Amino acid sequence: MKMPPHVLSYVRRLGRLPAYVYDLPGLRAHAEAIRNALRAPSAAGGPELYYAAKANADAPILRVLDPFVDGIEISSGGELVHVRRTLPHARLAFGGPGKTDQELRLALDLNVDRIHVESPHELHRIAALDRPAGILLRANLPFATSGAALSMSGPFGMDEDALETCAKLVSERPWLRLHGIHAHLASGLHAPAMLDLASRILDWALPWLRDRCGITEPEVNVGGGMAVDYTAPDTLFDWRSYAEGLASLTPPGVRLRIEPGRAVTAYHGWYVTDVLDVKNTRGDTYVVLRGGTHHLRTPVTKGHDQPFVALSATGAAADPTQRATLVGQLCTPKDVFARDVPVPPLEPGDVVAFAMAGAYAWNISHHDFLMHPKPDFHYIDD
Ligand SMILES: *Cc1c(COP(=O)(O)O)cnc(C)c1O
Repeated sequence: MKMPPHVLSYVRRLGRLPAYVYDLPGLRAHAEAIRNALRAPSAAGGPELYYAAKANADAPILRVLDPFVDGIEISSGGELVHVRRTLPHARLAFGGPGKTDQELRLALDLNVDRIHVESPHELHRIAALDRPAGILLRANLPFATSGAALSMSGPFGMDEDALETCAKLVSERPWLRLHGIHAHLASGLHAPAMLDLASRILDWALPWLRDRCGITEPEVNVGGGMAVDYTAPDTLFDWRSYAEGLASLTPPGVRLRIEPGRAVTAYHGWYVTDVLDVKNTRGDTYVVLRGGTHHLRTPVTKGHDQPFVALSATGAAADPTQRATLVGQLCTPKDVFARDVPVPPLEPGDVVAFAMAGAYAWNISHHDFLMHPKPDFHYIDD
């Protein structure tokens, strides 16, 4: 795990800690690489790439991604208003359970391109607005996904019976424009498992859309969930082989779409803080850091050790010489960034920078617990 030189020199000049530091040049290069990998194998241009805003919807991040994505997937009225304001011309897809009438109306007012319908009741309420609406039906398909970090079954999307109900409803309401199927079924899958999932979604969706709905040029959104391995920060999702597999799965005339979040933005955020105390208790060493998991909840929710770089107050990162548990300032034993991990000699004032804090990090954290100061936010640009 290394910190890129331009991030290191920025971090060295930081005053107040903790701070979130976002590496926008790195993010731009990463997004461009994903885009190129997706386009490479297919003369038709590869799948459309939407970014799932809930991973990290900070305006500077959305603006960096904008040239490399075909649209943004949003999951609430709040995200909708924010993303529309930040990227006025972006194509938007609106997903997520429990959409209110107010949100659905707002979606049409703000030119959402596709609404991902979660239930027959939701479809009825969209129909009742009596306005043209582009929709995909979100399918909850019974495909086992072993190895997934999260399986998105349960309340999300619709089973075959509910989809039938929707197909009938749509056929009777011409102002509802059904374009296809959306299926985000799992997260944390590597390319081969992702491809297997996509192939099963297509095998089900294409005949259903053709035979049941008469759609000959369907759209199929096979979701996000591309793996991010926090134990191997340098091993990225294999976008190239995924794109090659998708190209071979996709018949002509089918518009395929993906909507990753984590694998796009996780790698280019850092949570930087400093050591307040180092103590030994009953044979274990604890490094107490300023801030805590109320700023970076990712290791707690995912149950992993957050990768990090330790920088001495004066020089570069030293080699690990001992094991320690890195904790924050919260009065709970759950406030752990990394447990019993190799660390260099550390003392108060040294800096620890947690990597892979660009997605599902600050925005999922319980900021006000214990009323400690909030971090500063920095966006390195080139
Ligand atoms: C969260 C979510 C995504 C993005 O998932 P990642 O694991 O961040 O890639 C995509 N689609 C839907 C419907 C989601 O809920």
